[in-house]
Amino acid sequence: MRLKDVKVHIVSVPLKEAIHWTWQIIPITAFDFVVVEVRDEEGNAGYSALYDGVSSKELLMKYKMFIEGIVKWALTSVEFEPRDLHRIASICTHHYMRIGFLEAAVWDLMARREGKPLCKLLGGCRKRVKVYASMGRLVDVDMAKRHIDWYLKQGIDIVKVRFHRPDPMEDVKVLKELKKIYGSSVRFAVDANQALAVFPPFWDRWTALRVAEELYQLEVLWLEEPLYREDVEGYVWLRSKSRVAIAGGEAEYGLSNVLRRIDVGMYDIVQYDATLDNGVYEALTIANYTALKGLKYLAHAWNPGLGWLINLHITASLPEHLSPYIETPLDPSWFWEEVMFAVCDKEPPKIVDGYVEIGDEPGTGYSISSEKIKKFSIS
Ligand SMILES: [Mg+2]
Repeated sequence: MRLKDVKVHIVSVPLKEAIHWTWQIIPITAFDFVVVEVRDEEGNAGYSALYDGVSSKELLMKYKMFIEGIVKWALTSVEFEPRDLHRIASICTHHYMRIGFLEAAVWDLMARREGKPLCKLLGGCRKRVKVYASMGRLVDVDMAKRHIDWYLKQGIDIVKVRFHRPDPMEDVKVLKELKKIYGSSVRFAVDANQALAVFPPFWDRWTALRVAEELYQLEVLWLEEPLYREDVEGYVWLRSKSRVAIAGGEAEYGLSNVLRRIDVGMYDIVQYDATLDNGVYEALTIANYTALKGLKYLAHAWNPGLGWLINLHITASLPEHLSPYIETPLDPSWFWEEVMFAVCDKEPPKIVDGYVEIGDEPGTGYSISSEKIKKFSIS
C-alpha cells in the first residue's frame, strides 16, 4: 500500500487541577500528546495517539518534524507492506522517535478500508473486554477509597495502585488498609514503575522480594516493574522466588529485545504497548510468543483515547485466557473523558458491569474531531 498523506497534531489539554504522576518529577498542569492521522488515495483515514510519559511540548514537536519531514515522504512515495513498517519504527526508535503509533494508525486505516472493526482484521472476535482501573498518583487511603467506590459503581473490581513512597512498607500499609475495607470484592495489582526510574526511590532486589512477599499475603494479582530494566538477572532471580506474578515490558521495544527477555524468564505477564512501543505487528508477534510460553499478555495502555483504542482492539483480537483485561487510566476520575478523549469525535466507550464493549464500526470506530483538534492543537 501507499499513503496519500500523514499529519501529526501536537495537542495540549489544560488540566483543571495539576496532576502529579508517580513517574514524573513535578506535577503537570497540561496534558500534552501526539495525534497522527493517515490517509490513502481513496480517502480512507486511520488514527492513533501517543503519550510518551513525559508530556513535554518541546519533545513532542520533534515527532511532528520527524514524521512529517522524513517518514511521510517515505510512506507516500513508495509501496510498502504494513507488516514491514515495524522496520521503520525500529530505525526511528534508534533515533529516539518511537513511531509505533504511526504504524498503528495504518492498521486502523486498513481495517476501515475493509469495513471491519480493527480486532477482526487482526483475527479476533471478542465482543467485550474486562477493564482494570489504573491509578497514576500516589494516593492515601481516603483518596483511593473515593476512586475505588466510583470504579465499583461501574462494575470494575480490579484496581492497580502505584508504590512510590521512600519506604515501600508505607505503600504496603495503605494497601493493607484498602484490603481491610474491600476484602475480596476488589482485587489489586501494584505498579512500582522501577524499569525507567530516574529518581528515587530505587528498589534493589531484596526490597522487591520483600514487597512481593507482602503482596502475596494480600492476594495481589501482579507486581509490575519492580526493578530497573537493565537488571535482567534481577528479574529472573526475583521471579524464581516471588509467589506474586511479575509483570513488565512497557519500557521495551524491538522484537529480539523483548523475545529474549521472555526467553530468559523475566516476566509472568508481558505488557507491550503498540502505540508507545513499536506498533501492532510487534505487539501481536509478542502476544503470540507469550501464548506459546504459557504466560499472559496484558497491554500497557496508559494512552490518549485514540492510542488506547488500538490496544483495546489488540486485546479483543486475543483469547481471553491470554489477555483478560485492558488497562484503563481512570485517575483522576475526570481525566479519562475530559482529557484522554479530548480530541475524539465521541465520548469514551461506556464501561458496563466492568466491561467495555467492542462495536461493529470499522477500525477503532473513533476519529478525531476537527473542531476539537483546532481547539487543543499547538502545532
Ligand atoms: Mg506500568
